Amino acid sequence: MSVEQQEAKHTGAPVIKRMSSIAVGSEVRIVRSNRVVLDNIVCSAEIVITNGTITRILPRGGHSSANDAEVLDVGNLVVMPGVIDPHVHVNEPGRVAWEGYWTATRAAAAGGITTMVDMPLNSLPPTTTVSNFQTKLQAADGQCFVDMAFWGGVVPENQAELRPMLKAGIPGFKCFLISSGVDEFPCVSLMDLHKVMVILQGTESILLFHAELDNTQGIPASAHTSEYSMFLESRPDIMEVDAIRTIIDLCLLYKVKCHIVHLSSAQALPIIREARRAGAPITVETTHHYLTLDSDNIPPGATHYKCCPPIRKRINQEELWAALHDGHIDMVVSDHSPCTPDLKLQGDGDFLKAWGGISSLQFGLPLFWTAAACRGFGLHDVVRLMCANPAKLCRLEERKGALRPGWDADMVIWDPDKEFEVQEHMIHHKHKLTPYLGFHLRGQVFASILRGTLIYQDGNFCPLPCGDHILIQSKSSDKGNSPYY
Ligand SMILES: [Zn+2]
Repeated sequence: MSVEQQEAKHTGAPVIKRMSSIAVGSEVRIVRSNRVVLDNIVCSAEIVITNGTITRILPRGGHSSANDAEVLDVGNLVVMPGVIDPHVHVNEPGRVAWEGYWTATRAAAAGGITTMVDMPLNSLPPTTTVSNFQTKLQAADGQCFVDMAFWGGVVPENQAELRPMLKAGIPGFKCFLISSGVDEFPCVSLMDLHKVMVILQGTESILLFHAELDNTQGIPASAHTSEYSMFLESRPDIMEVDAIRTIIDLCLLYKVKCHIVHLSSAQALPIIREARRAGAPITVETTHHYLTLDSDNIPPGATHYKCCPPIRKRINQEELWAALHDGHIDMVVSDHSPCTPDLKLQGDGDFLKAWGGISSLQFGLPLFWTAAACRGFGLHDVVRLMCANPAKLCRLEERKGALRPGWDADMVIWDPDKEFEVQEHMIHHKHKLTPYLGFHLRGQVFASILRGTLIYQDGNFCPLPCGDHILIQSKSSDKGNSPYY
Protein backbone atom coordinates (compact mmCIF):
# COMPACT_ATOMS: atom_id res chain seq x y z
CA MET A 1 0.00 0.00 0.00
CA SER A 2 1.40 3.42 -0.92
CA VAL A 3 1.89 6.23 1.55
CA GLU A 4 -0.98 8.09 -0.14
CA GLN A 5 -3.26 5.11 0.24
CA GLN A 6 -2.26 4.67 3.89
CA GLU A 7 -2.99 8.32 4.55
CA ALA A 8 -6.28 8.09 2.68
CA LYS A 9 -7.23 5.05 4.72
CA HIS A 10 -6.55 6.91 7.97
CA THR A 11 -8.39 10.06 6.94
CA GLY A 12 -11.13 8.27 5.04
CA ALA A 13 -10.74 10.88 2.28
CA PRO A 14 -10.07 10.10 -1.36
CA VAL A 15 -6.43 10.76 -2.24
CA ILE A 16 -7.37 13.28 -4.89
CA LYS A 17 -9.00 15.67 -2.44
CA ARG A 18 -5.63 16.48 -1.00
CA MET A 19 -4.20 17.55 -4.31
CA SER A 20 -5.32 21.10 -4.77
CA SER A 21 -8.07 23.61 -5.04
CA ILE A 22 -7.10 24.44 -8.61
CA ALA A 23 -10.12 24.22 -10.87
CA VAL A 24 -9.91 21.96 -13.90
CA GLY A 25 -9.25 24.18 -16.89
CA SER A 26 -7.05 26.58 -14.89
CA GLU A 27 -3.40 27.39 -15.37
CA VAL A 28 -0.95 25.79 -12.96
CA ARG A 29 2.15 27.81 -11.98
CA ILE A 30 3.91 25.18 -9.88
CA VAL A 31 3.61 21.41 -9.64
CA ARG A 32 5.06 19.89 -6.46
CA SER A 33 5.59 16.21 -5.78
CA ASN A 34 7.81 13.87 -3.82
CA ARG A 35 8.16 11.72 -6.95
CA VAL A 36 9.00 13.73 -10.06
CA VAL A 37 10.45 11.66 -12.91
CA LEU A 38 13.34 13.66 -14.33
CA ASP A 39 15.84 12.42 -16.91
CA ASN A 40 17.97 10.31 -14.58
CA ILE A 41 16.32 10.40 -11.18
CA VAL A 42 12.97 10.27 -9.43
CA CYS A 43 13.08 12.99 -6.79
CA SER A 44 11.18 15.47 -4.69
CA ALA A 45 10.89 18.63 -6.77
CA GLU A 46 8.78 21.53 -7.91
CA ILE A 47 8.26 22.35 -11.53
CA VAL A 48 7.80 26.03 -12.35
CA ILE A 49 5.64 26.78 -15.39
CA THR A 50 5.43 30.04 -17.32
CA ASN A 51 3.09 30.47 -20.29
CA GLY A 52 2.77 26.72 -20.79
CA THR A 53 6.49 26.02 -20.72
CA ILE A 54 8.61 24.52 -17.94
CA THR A 55 10.95 27.32 -16.91
CA ARG A 56 12.68 25.84 -13.85
CA ILE A 57 12.83 22.62 -11.87
CA LEU A 58 13.79 23.23 -8.24
CA PRO A 59 14.21 21.13 -5.13
CA ARG A 60 10.90 20.90 -3.29
CA GLY A 61 10.38 24.04 -1.21
CA GLY A 62 12.84 26.00 -3.33
CA HIS A 63 10.19 28.39 -4.64
CA SER A 64 7.85 30.49 -2.58
CA SER A 65 6.55 33.34 -4.71
CA ALA A 66 3.44 31.64 -6.17
CA ASN A 67 0.21 31.82 -4.22
CA ASP A 68 -1.51 28.62 -3.18
CA ALA A 69 -4.21 28.98 -5.82
CA GLU A 70 -1.60 28.33 -8.50
CA VAL A 71 0.28 25.47 -6.84
CA LEU A 72 -0.61 21.86 -7.47
CA ASP A 73 0.89 19.87 -4.60
CA VAL A 74 0.33 16.19 -5.29
CA GLY A 75 2.23 14.69 -2.38
CA ASN A 76 3.54 11.24 -3.27
CA LEU A 77 1.76 10.90 -6.58
CA VAL A 78 4.14 10.44 -9.51
CA VAL A 79 4.64 13.38 -11.88
CA MET A 80 5.89 12.27 -15.28
CA PRO A 81 5.99 13.71 -18.82
CA GLY A 82 2.59 13.39 -20.51
CA VAL A 83 2.25 10.16 -22.49
CA ILE A 84 2.58 10.46 -26.28
CA ASP A 85 0.54 7.96 -28.28
CA PRO A 86 1.69 8.03 -31.90
CA HIS A 87 -0.79 5.43 -33.18
CA VAL A 88 -4.47 6.35 -32.86
CA HIS A 89 -7.29 6.00 -35.40
CA VAL A 90 -9.71 8.84 -34.71
CA ASN A 91 -11.75 8.18 -37.91
CA GLU A 92 -13.06 11.74 -38.22
CA PRO A 93 -14.21 13.11 -40.60
CA GLY A 94 -16.25 10.49 -42.40
CA ARG A 95 -16.57 7.70 -39.85
CA VAL A 96 -17.54 9.69 -36.78
CA ALA A 97 -19.88 6.91 -35.74
CA TRP A 98 -16.72 4.89 -35.00
CA GLU A 99 -14.81 7.49 -32.96
CA GLY A 100 -14.12 11.23 -33.08
CA TYR A 101 -11.80 13.96 -31.87
CA TRP A 102 -14.00 15.01 -28.95
CA THR A 103 -14.36 11.53 -27.45
CA ALA A 104 -10.90 10.21 -28.35
CA THR A 105 -9.03 13.22 -26.94
CA ARG A 106 -11.09 13.19 -23.72
CA ALA A 107 -10.27 9.49 -23.31
CA ALA A 108 -6.63 10.37 -23.94
CA ALA A 109 -6.64 13.15 -21.32
CA ALA A 110 -8.23 10.77 -18.80
CA GLY A 111 -5.46 8.28 -19.56
CA GLY A 112 -2.56 10.69 -19.06
CA ILE A 113 -1.92 11.15 -22.79
CA THR A 114 -1.17 14.78 -23.67
CA THR A 115 -0.20 14.30 -27.33
CA MET A 116 -1.49 11.83 -29.86
CA VAL A 117 -0.89 11.31 -33.54
CA ASP A 118 -3.79 10.42 -35.80
CA MET A 119 -3.45 7.70 -38.41
CA PRO A 120 -4.22 8.65 -42.02
CA LEU A 121 -6.79 5.95 -42.67
CA ASN A 122 -10.34 5.14 -41.68
CA SER A 123 -11.31 8.80 -41.90
CA LEU A 124 -13.04 9.93 -45.09
CA PRO A 125 -11.20 11.33 -46.88
CA PRO A 126 -7.97 9.61 -45.85
CA THR A 127 -4.97 11.90 -45.21
CA THR A 128 -3.32 11.27 -48.56
CA THR A 129 -3.30 14.75 -50.11
CA VAL A 130 -2.67 18.29 -48.86
CA SER A 131 -6.31 19.10 -49.51
CA ASN A 132 -7.47 16.08 -47.49
CA PHE A 133 -5.11 17.09 -44.70
CA GLN A 134 -6.74 20.53 -44.58
CA THR A 135 -10.14 18.82 -44.39
CA LYS A 136 -8.91 16.77 -41.44
CA LEU A 137 -7.55 19.84 -39.64
CA GLN A 138 -10.91 21.57 -40.05
CA ALA A 139 -12.70 18.51 -38.66
CA ALA A 140 -10.42 18.44 -35.61
CA ASP A 141 -10.63 22.17 -35.02
CA GLY A 142 -12.03 23.12 -31.61
CA GLN A 143 -12.56 19.50 -30.58
CA CYS A 144 -9.22 18.40 -29.14
CA PHE A 145 -8.54 18.16 -25.42
CA VAL A 146 -4.92 17.14 -26.05
CA ASP A 147 -2.35 18.15 -28.68
CA MET A 148 -2.80 16.39 -32.02
CA ALA A 149 -0.36 15.68 -34.81
CA PHE A 150 -1.29 13.85 -38.01
CA TRP A 151 0.43 11.15 -40.07
CA GLY A 152 -0.03 11.24 -43.83
CA GLY A 153 -0.63 8.20 -46.00
CA VAL A 154 1.24 6.73 -48.97
CA VAL A 155 -1.04 5.08 -51.50
CA PRO A 156 -0.44 4.26 -55.17
CA GLU A 157 -0.26 7.42 -57.30
CA ASN A 158 -0.01 10.04 -54.57
CA GLN A 159 3.76 10.54 -54.80
CA ALA A 160 3.35 14.14 -55.99
CA GLU A 161 1.56 14.99 -52.73
CA LEU A 162 4.26 13.74 -50.38
CA ARG A 163 6.69 16.64 -50.26
CA PRO A 164 3.86 19.23 -50.15
CA MET A 165 2.32 17.30 -47.25
CA LEU A 166 5.62 17.39 -45.39
CA LYS A 167 5.73 21.13 -45.96
CA ALA A 168 2.17 21.40 -44.65
CA GLY A 169 3.22 19.91 -41.29
CA ILE A 170 3.01 16.13 -41.50
CA PRO A 171 5.89 14.33 -39.72
CA GLY A 172 5.81 11.22 -41.93
CA PHE A 173 3.67 8.70 -43.76
CA LYS A 174 2.08 5.31 -43.27
CA CYS A 175 1.63 2.64 -45.91
CA PHE A 176 0.36 -0.92 -46.20
CA LEU A 177 1.93 -3.89 -47.95
CA ILE A 178 -1.37 -5.79 -47.68
CA SER A 179 -5.04 -4.77 -47.88
CA SER A 180 -5.77 -2.09 -45.29
CA GLY A 181 -9.40 -3.13 -44.91
CA VAL A 182 -10.78 0.07 -46.47
CA ASP A 183 -11.01 0.65 -50.22
CA GLU A 184 -9.95 4.29 -50.12
CA PHE A 185 -6.52 3.43 -48.69
CA PRO A 186 -5.04 0.79 -51.04
CA CYS A 187 -1.74 -0.92 -50.37
CA VAL A 188 1.43 -0.04 -52.28
CA SER A 189 3.59 -2.22 -54.54
CA LEU A 190 7.34 -2.62 -54.32
CA MET A 191 7.63 -0.42 -57.40
CA ASP A 192 5.62 2.33 -55.66
CA LEU A 193 7.92 2.06 -52.67
CA HIS A 194 11.09 2.56 -54.70
CA LYS A 195 9.59 5.79 -56.10
CA VAL A 196 8.52 6.93 -52.64
CA MET A 197 11.92 6.26 -51.12
CA VAL A 198 13.59 8.45 -53.71
CA ILE A 199 11.14 11.26 -52.93
CA LEU A 200 11.72 10.98 -49.18
CA GLN A 201 15.51 10.78 -49.38
CA GLY A 202 17.08 13.89 -47.88
CA THR A 203 13.97 14.84 -45.93
CA GLU A 204 13.47 14.36 -42.17
CA SER A 205 10.38 12.29 -42.87
CA ILE A 206 9.78 8.73 -41.75
CA LEU A 207 7.84 5.96 -43.49
CA LEU A 208 5.63 3.81 -41.27
CA PHE A 209 4.79 0.30 -42.41
CA HIS A 210 1.92 -1.99 -41.62
CA ALA A 211 4.23 -4.98 -41.94
CA GLU A 212 2.30 -7.94 -43.26
CA LEU A 213 2.64 -9.51 -46.72
CA ASP A 214 -0.09 -11.65 -48.24
CA ASN A 215 2.19 -14.64 -48.84
CA THR A 216 0.05 -17.50 -47.54
CA GLN A 217 -2.37 -19.94 -49.11
CA GLY A 218 -5.36 -18.70 -47.13
CA ILE A 219 -7.47 -20.94 -44.95
CA PRO A 220 -9.65 -23.93 -45.82
CA ALA A 221 -13.31 -23.18 -46.56
CA SER A 222 -14.36 -25.61 -43.84
CA ALA A 223 -12.61 -23.62 -41.08
CA HIS A 224 -14.47 -22.79 -37.90
CA THR A 225 -14.45 -19.04 -38.25
CA SER A 226 -15.53 -18.31 -34.68
CA GLU A 227 -12.43 -20.02 -33.25
CA TYR A 228 -9.57 -17.63 -32.56
CA SER A 229 -6.99 -20.33 -33.33
CA MET A 230 -8.27 -20.42 -36.91
CA PHE A 231 -7.83 -16.66 -37.27
CA LEU A 232 -4.32 -16.88 -35.82
CA GLU A 233 -3.40 -19.63 -38.28
CA SER A 234 -4.70 -17.48 -41.13
CA ARG A 235 -2.11 -14.76 -40.37
CA PRO A 236 1.09 -16.65 -39.49
CA ASP A 237 4.38 -15.09 -38.35
CA ILE A 238 5.89 -15.45 -41.82
CA MET A 239 3.57 -12.71 -43.11
CA GLU A 240 5.26 -10.25 -40.76
CA VAL A 241 8.77 -11.62 -41.15
CA ASP A 242 8.69 -11.47 -44.96
CA ALA A 243 7.23 -7.97 -44.93
CA ILE A 244 9.90 -6.76 -42.52
CA ARG A 245 12.63 -8.34 -44.66
CA THR A 246 11.34 -6.28 -47.61
CA ILE A 247 11.24 -3.10 -45.52
CA ILE A 248 14.78 -3.65 -44.23
CA ASP A 249 16.10 -4.06 -47.79
CA LEU A 250 14.54 -0.71 -48.75
CA CYS A 251 15.73 0.96 -45.57
CA LEU A 252 19.33 -0.15 -46.09
CA LEU A 253 19.26 0.79 -49.75
CA TYR A 254 17.83 4.30 -49.43
CA LYS A 255 18.69 5.14 -45.79
CA VAL A 256 15.24 6.68 -45.36
CA LYS A 257 13.94 6.37 -41.78
CA CYS A 258 11.47 3.47 -41.51
CA HIS A 259 9.23 2.42 -38.65
CA ILE A 260 7.43 -0.87 -38.09
CA VAL A 261 4.01 -0.22 -36.56
CA HIS A 262 2.42 -2.73 -34.19
CA LEU A 263 5.00 -5.52 -34.28
CA SER A 264 3.32 -8.71 -33.15
CA SER A 265 5.69 -11.52 -34.19
CA ALA A 266 8.85 -11.93 -32.12
CA GLN A 267 10.21 -14.04 -35.00
CA ALA A 268 11.07 -10.79 -36.80
CA LEU A 269 13.29 -9.53 -33.99
CA PRO A 270 16.55 -11.21 -35.12
CA ILE A 271 16.43 -9.63 -38.60
CA ILE A 272 15.54 -6.24 -37.11
CA ARG A 273 18.51 -6.44 -34.72
CA GLU A 274 20.77 -7.44 -37.60
CA ALA A 275 19.49 -4.57 -39.78
CA ARG A 276 20.18 -2.06 -37.03
CA ARG A 277 23.69 -3.40 -36.63
CA ALA A 278 24.11 -2.93 -40.38
CA GLY A 279 23.08 0.72 -40.06
CA ALA A 280 19.42 0.65 -41.08
CA PRO A 281 17.60 3.67 -39.58
CA ILE A 282 14.66 1.54 -38.48
CA THR A 283 12.50 1.75 -35.34
CA VAL A 284 9.80 -0.55 -33.99
CA GLU A 285 6.68 -0.22 -31.88
CA THR A 286 4.47 -2.82 -30.28
CA THR A 287 1.07 -2.41 -28.67
CA HIS A 288 -0.60 -2.93 -25.34
CA HIS A 289 -2.68 -5.79 -26.68
CA TYR A 290 0.32 -7.85 -27.80
CA LEU A 291 1.90 -7.32 -24.38
CA THR A 292 -1.20 -8.02 -22.30
CA LEU A 293 -3.44 -10.49 -24.17
CA ASP A 294 -2.55 -13.95 -25.45
CA SER A 295 -4.21 -16.18 -28.00
CA ASP A 296 -4.92 -19.08 -25.64
CA ASN A 297 -7.25 -16.90 -23.57
CA ILE A 298 -9.43 -15.48 -26.34
CA PRO A 299 -12.92 -17.00 -26.13
CA PRO A 300 -14.70 -18.31 -29.26
CA GLY A 301 -16.53 -15.52 -31.07
CA ALA A 302 -14.83 -12.74 -29.05
CA THR A 303 -14.23 -10.57 -32.09
CA HIS A 304 -13.43 -7.49 -30.00
CA TYR A 305 -9.98 -9.15 -29.65
CA LYS A 306 -9.50 -9.17 -33.42
CA CYS A 307 -6.69 -7.07 -34.85
CA CYS A 308 -4.06 -7.45 -37.57
CA PRO A 309 -1.44 -8.70 -37.15
CA PRO A 310 -3.05 -11.06 -34.65
CA ILE A 311 -2.51 -11.48 -30.92
CA ARG A 312 -0.17 -14.47 -30.65
CA LYS A 313 0.84 -17.03 -28.04
CA ARG A 314 2.20 -16.35 -24.57
CA ILE A 315 5.72 -17.47 -25.43
CA ASN A 316 5.81 -14.89 -28.25
CA GLN A 317 4.60 -12.22 -25.81
CA GLU A 318 7.47 -12.87 -23.43
CA GLU A 319 9.94 -12.42 -26.28
CA LEU A 320 8.38 -9.02 -27.01
CA TRP A 321 8.85 -8.07 -23.35
CA ALA A 322 12.49 -9.14 -23.49
CA ALA A 323 13.01 -7.01 -26.61
CA LEU A 324 11.44 -4.00 -24.88
CA HIS A 325 13.75 -4.51 -21.95
CA ASP A 326 16.82 -4.74 -24.17
CA GLY A 327 15.85 -1.74 -26.33
CA HIS A 328 15.17 -3.73 -29.51
CA ILE A 329 11.57 -2.50 -29.52
CA ASP A 330 11.48 1.28 -29.12
CA MET A 331 8.00 2.13 -27.92
CA VAL A 332 4.57 0.94 -26.84
CA VAL A 333 1.43 2.45 -28.39
CA SER A 334 -2.30 1.82 -28.30
CA ASP A 335 -3.22 1.36 -31.98
CA HIS A 336 -6.66 2.42 -30.72
CA SER A 337 -8.85 1.44 -33.68
CA PRO A 338 -12.52 1.32 -32.78
CA CYS A 339 -15.62 0.83 -34.92
CA THR A 340 -19.34 0.68 -34.30
CA PRO A 341 -20.19 -2.46 -32.29
CA ASP A 342 -22.27 -3.96 -35.12
CA LEU A 343 -19.16 -4.25 -37.31
CA LYS A 344 -17.68 -6.62 -34.75
CA LEU A 345 -20.45 -9.12 -35.67
CA GLN A 346 -20.69 -10.29 -32.09
CA GLY A 347 -23.77 -12.37 -32.91
CA ASP A 348 -21.93 -14.50 -35.50
CA GLY A 349 -18.56 -14.22 -33.83
CA ASP A 350 -16.92 -14.60 -37.22
CA PHE A 351 -13.27 -13.63 -36.85
CA LEU A 352 -12.72 -13.47 -40.60
CA LYS A 353 -15.58 -11.09 -41.39
CA ALA A 354 -15.52 -8.88 -38.27
CA TRP A 355 -13.76 -5.50 -38.39
CA GLY A 356 -10.24 -5.69 -36.95
CA GLY A 357 -9.18 -3.19 -34.31
CA ILE A 358 -8.99 -2.92 -30.53
CA SER A 359 -10.06 -0.03 -28.30
CA SER A 360 -7.67 0.80 -25.50
CA LEU A 361 -6.59 4.44 -25.75
CA GLN A 362 -7.61 5.51 -22.25
CA PHE A 363 -5.99 2.57 -20.46
CA GLY A 364 -2.55 2.42 -22.07
CA LEU A 365 -0.56 3.61 -19.08
CA PRO A 366 -2.11 1.25 -16.49
CA LEU A 367 -2.16 -1.65 -18.99
CA PHE A 368 1.54 -1.24 -19.58
CA TRP A 369 2.43 -0.64 -15.95
CA THR A 370 0.40 -3.59 -14.65
CA ALA A 371 2.37 -6.00 -16.80
CA ALA A 372 5.69 -4.11 -16.79
CA ALA A 373 6.15 -3.50 -13.07
CA CYS A 374 6.07 -7.22 -12.26
CA ARG A 375 8.73 -7.81 -14.91
CA GLY A 376 11.14 -5.37 -13.28
CA PHE A 377 10.45 -2.30 -15.43
CA GLY A 378 10.65 1.08 -13.66
CA LEU A 379 9.26 4.57 -14.14
CA HIS A 380 12.13 5.56 -16.44
CA ASP A 381 11.25 2.64 -18.72
CA VAL A 382 7.69 4.00 -18.94
CA VAL A 383 9.06 7.42 -19.91
CA ARG A 384 11.44 5.89 -22.47
CA LEU A 385 8.81 3.68 -24.11
CA MET A 386 5.70 5.88 -23.87
CA CYS A 387 7.03 9.47 -23.86
CA ALA A 388 10.61 10.03 -25.04
CA ASN A 389 10.85 7.59 -27.95
CA PRO A 390 7.37 8.41 -29.33
CA ALA A 391 8.37 12.11 -29.18
CA LYS A 392 11.42 11.35 -31.32
CA LEU A 393 9.34 9.34 -33.79
CA CYS A 394 7.18 12.35 -34.64
CA ARG A 395 9.99 14.91 -34.27
CA LEU A 396 8.73 16.48 -31.07
CA GLU A 397 11.72 15.53 -28.93
CA GLU A 398 12.83 19.12 -28.49
CA ARG A 399 9.63 20.13 -26.75
CA LYS A 400 7.81 17.03 -25.50
CA GLY A 401 8.51 13.65 -23.92
CA ALA A 402 10.62 14.90 -20.96
CA LEU A 403 10.39 17.21 -17.97
CA ARG A 404 13.06 19.80 -18.70
CA PRO A 405 13.30 23.61 -18.68
CA GLY A 406 12.22 24.84 -22.11
CA TRP A 407 9.96 21.86 -22.78
CA ASP A 408 6.14 22.02 -22.91
CA ALA A 409 4.61 21.65 -19.46
CA ASP A 410 2.80 18.40 -20.37
CA MET A 411 2.43 16.03 -17.42
CA VAL A 412 0.57 13.01 -16.17
CA ILE A 413 0.03 12.73 -12.43
CA TRP A 414 -0.66 9.18 -11.33
CA ASP A 415 -0.44 6.62 -8.57
CA PRO A 416 1.51 3.56 -9.71
CA ASP A 417 0.33 1.61 -6.67
CA LYS A 418 -3.39 2.18 -6.92
CA GLU A 419 -5.44 -0.66 -8.38
CA PHE A 420 -8.80 -0.42 -10.08
CA GLU A 421 -11.19 -2.46 -12.21
CA VAL A 422 -12.03 -1.28 -15.73
CA GLN A 423 -15.76 -0.59 -15.74
CA GLU A 424 -17.97 0.63 -18.53
CA HIS A 425 -18.95 3.89 -16.83
CA MET A 426 -15.28 5.01 -16.68
CA ILE A 427 -14.70 4.71 -20.42
CA HIS A 428 -14.61 7.92 -22.43
CA HIS A 429 -14.07 6.34 -25.87
CA LYS A 430 -17.15 6.69 -28.07
CA HIS A 431 -17.80 2.94 -27.78
CA LYS A 432 -17.27 0.89 -24.66
CA LEU A 433 -16.53 -2.44 -26.35
CA THR A 434 -13.00 -3.42 -25.35
CA PRO A 435 -11.29 -6.65 -24.25
CA TYR A 436 -10.22 -4.90 -21.04
CA LEU A 437 -13.65 -4.56 -19.40
CA GLY A 438 -13.38 -6.18 -15.97
CA PHE A 439 -9.57 -6.18 -15.98
CA HIS A 440 -7.92 -5.33 -12.68
CA LEU A 441 -5.19 -2.85 -13.46
CA ARG A 442 -2.47 -1.16 -11.44
CA GLY A 443 -1.65 2.53 -11.86
CA GLN A 444 -4.40 5.12 -11.80
CA VAL A 445 -4.23 8.47 -13.56
CA PHE A 446 -5.41 11.34 -11.37
CA ALA A 447 -4.63 14.38 -13.48
CA SER A 448 -3.21 15.54 -16.79
CA ILE A 449 -1.63 18.91 -17.56
CA LEU A 450 -1.32 20.20 -21.12
CA ARG A 451 1.07 23.13 -21.62
CA GLY A 452 0.38 24.28 -18.06
CA THR A 453 -3.41 23.87 -18.11
CA LEU A 454 -5.04 21.30 -15.84
CA ILE A 455 -7.06 19.51 -18.51
CA TYR A 456 -8.21 16.51 -16.45
CA GLN A 457 -8.51 15.73 -12.77
CA ASP A 458 -10.31 12.91 -11.03
CA GLY A 459 -13.02 12.36 -13.63
CA ASN A 460 -13.46 16.03 -14.56
CA PHE A 461 -12.38 17.68 -17.81
CA CYS A 462 -11.56 21.29 -18.60
CA PRO A 463 -14.73 22.98 -19.91
CA LEU A 464 -13.33 23.73 -23.35
CA PRO A 465 -10.85 21.78 -25.48
CA CYS A 466 -7.43 23.46 -25.49
CA GLY A 467 -5.37 21.05 -27.57
CA ASP A 468 -3.37 22.41 -30.50
CA HIS A 469 -2.85 20.98 -33.95
CA ILE A 470 0.87 20.33 -34.12
CA LEU A 471 2.34 21.06 -37.52
CA ILE A 472 5.83 19.63 -37.79
CA GLN A 473 8.17 21.68 -39.93
CA SER A 474 11.58 20.56 -41.06
CA LYS A 475 14.25 22.60 -39.36
CA SER A 476 15.88 23.36 -42.68
CA SER A 477 12.71 24.41 -44.49
CA ASP A 478 10.61 27.54 -44.53
CA LYS A 479 9.30 28.06 -41.00
CA GLY A 480 5.99 29.47 -42.24
CA ASN A 481 3.29 30.09 -39.68
CA SER A 482 3.78 26.93 -37.66
CA PRO A 483 3.18 27.50 -33.96
CA TYR A 484 5.99 25.08 -33.20
CA TYR A 485 9.09 26.08 -35.12
ZN1 LIG B 1 -3.40 1.08 -36.66
